Amino acid sequence: MIAIEKISKSFTGEKILKEVSLSINAGEIICIIGPSGSGKTTLLRTLNFLEPADSGKIQIDDAVVDCAKAGKKEIEKIRAKTAMVFQSWNLFHNLTALQNITEGLIYAQKRPRQEAVATAEGLLKQVGLLHKKDNYPNSLSGGQKQRIGIARALAINPAVLLLDEPTSALDPEKVGEVLTLIQEIAANGQTMIIVTHEMEFARQVASRVVFMENGEIVEQGPPEQIFGAALHSRTQAFLARLR
Ligand code: ATP
Repeated sequence: MIAIEKISKSFTGEKILKEVSLSINAGEIICIIGPSGSGKTTLLRTLNFLEPADSGKIQIDDAVVDCAKAGKKEIEKIRAKTAMVFQSWNLFHNLTALQNITEGLIYAQKRPRQEAVATAEGLLKQVGLLHKKDNYPNSLSGGQKQRIGIARALAINPAVLLLDEPTSALDPEKVGEVLTLIQEIAANGQTMIIVTHEMEFARQVASRVVFMENGEIVEQGPPEQIFGAALHSRTQAFLARLR
C-alpha cells in the first residue's frame, strides 16, 4: 500500500507539485498522464527521494516518512522499497548486461555473488535476453537496453516499480517489445507507477489513470472513464488536443 499525502515541491520559487495526494493499492498499475511540465516526473522522483519533496508524507508499506524532516534512515527505508526505470536506461556502460543487474545486488544488498548471478540470469530469461548476458550496453538496441533496465529494477524485488516514460527514447518499432514486457510484469501483480505519453499503452495496461496538470491531480479513474468519458473539462481538453 502506498499513501502519498499532500506532497509539495518548488523549484526556484515556482510550485511544481501542489499538495498532491494519491493512494495506491498493492498490484495496481497507475499511469500518470498530462501535459509537458505538469509535474509528472517530479512526482515520481519525490517517491524515491531522487528529488526530495519540500513537504508532505509518503508511506510505502511499513515505511513512512515526513518529507519536511526526513532522516537518512527513513529515506533509505523508502528507497529500498522502490526501483526506478529511466527513460534513457542509465545502464553502466563498462558492465555487461548481467553485471548491470548483479552490481546492486552484490554491493548494495550484500547478496552472495552466486545468488546474485542466479537472480540476474532468471530475470534476463524473463525479459528474453539471457543470450545477451555478456554483451555490453553499446552492443544492445534501445529496446534491449530498456529491458535490461527493467530487469535491473525488478532484481531488488521492489514494493513499487517507478517507470519514467519507459518508451519515449525508443524507435517506434521497439516500443512494442517494451510495452509487452511491462504488460507481462503487470500480470504478475507488480505494483507500478508509470509516467507515460503513450495514451494507447495507458489505456491497455493501467488499472487507474491519473491526469495531472499544473502540479495537481485533476482527475483519476479507470481507463474507460478517463479515455471514454472524462468528467473534468481540463482532462477532456488535454485529450482533445492529442487527437
Ligand atoms: P514532461 O512530460 O515534459 O516530461 P513532466 O510533467 O514530467 O513533463 P516535470 O519534469 O516534472 O514535468 O517538470 C515540471 C516542471 O518542473 C518543469 O517546468 C521543469 O522545468 C521543472 N523542473 C523539473 N526538475 C527541475 C529541477 N531539477 N530544477 C528546476 N526545475 C525543474
